[in-house]
Amino acid sequence: MADDGANGSTPHSSASSLSPSRAGDFLTCPLLYRFRVIDRLPEPPSPAAARGTLVHAVLEHLFDQPAAGRTPEAARSLLGPEWDRLLAAEPALAGLFAAEEDRVSWLEEAGTMLDRYFTLEDPRRLEPAHRELCVEAELASGLRLRGYIDRLDVAPGGEIRIVDYKTGTAPPAEFEARALFQMKFYALVLWRAQGTLPRLLQLIYLGNGEIVRYQPDEADLRATERKVEAVWQAIERARADRDWRPRPGRLCDWCAHKPICPAFGGTPPPLPEPEAVPVPAGQQPCAPDQEPSLLDLA
Ligand code: SF4
Repeated sequence: MADDGANGSTPHSSASSLSPSRAGDFLTCPLLYRFRVIDRLPEPPSPAAARGTLVHAVLEHLFDQPAAGRTPEAARSLLGPEWDRLLAAEPALAGLFAAEEDRVSWLEEAGTMLDRYFTLEDPRRLEPAHRELCVEAELASGLRLRGYIDRLDVAPGGEIRIVDYKTGTAPPAEFEARALFQMKFYALVLWRAQGTLPRLLQLIYLGNGEIVRYQPDEADLRATERKVEAVWQAIERARADRDWRPRPGRLCDWCAHKPICPAFGGTPPPLPEPEAVPVPAGQQPCAPDQEPSLLDLA
């Protein structure tokens, strides 16, 4: 891999680190990236994000059961305990619902997504190699990539399938490339970390019951690497110029920072001085991202 990363990029500092969610934020809107990574503005929990976390937790722990026990009923029975666990970890979630019936109908929607999962896959026939796998790799330029993979399946012949659950609906054509970019990002990290090219990328949309599959090849992942480097260079340019422009679009309706966004008449807080910006938890090696990308919510 002598030419790896030989793309004319400048070397990066050891603190340089990028996840697919934060790369997606910058591509969606540089100001959103700033609010999340530079300002570290808190975001109130939202029912959509919390439901995504809950459904992911259930699907992760469903595979703790022996294969024969991975039934729709078993999945639904995990909703209550997993919700209690999330509440204990983040008590603010308790304020998500004004009335008990709101919570019940929200929980029912999560149950419907789990039922839909069983129309797409039979987990009794699967034995994942990893769940919620943290992957990291350092590119030749010094840029560190990291991410959490929902599920990694490895066939007896060694072929790798990367699986990602989405609780939204499959995106329209103009956003599908963005969703696949996230998957190619994971594939790139695995390839660079382990030297094995994943055979299949699989996005499971539980909002509408669709599966998107993609077979990456080496040229794909090299192109992804160039794109990731270009995104990071654009981020570093914005950081140096202190220029984080809003890029309004369809996903603004999902943005917690709309009230302070100048594109909607708001006023952002003063930009912190560079020395006042710690390396945020979401940028440290293999810490999970605190916030999902807006694409995951829409
Ligand atoms: S509201 Fe839209 S334009 Fe403004 S910060 Fe959020 S995503 Fe960017």
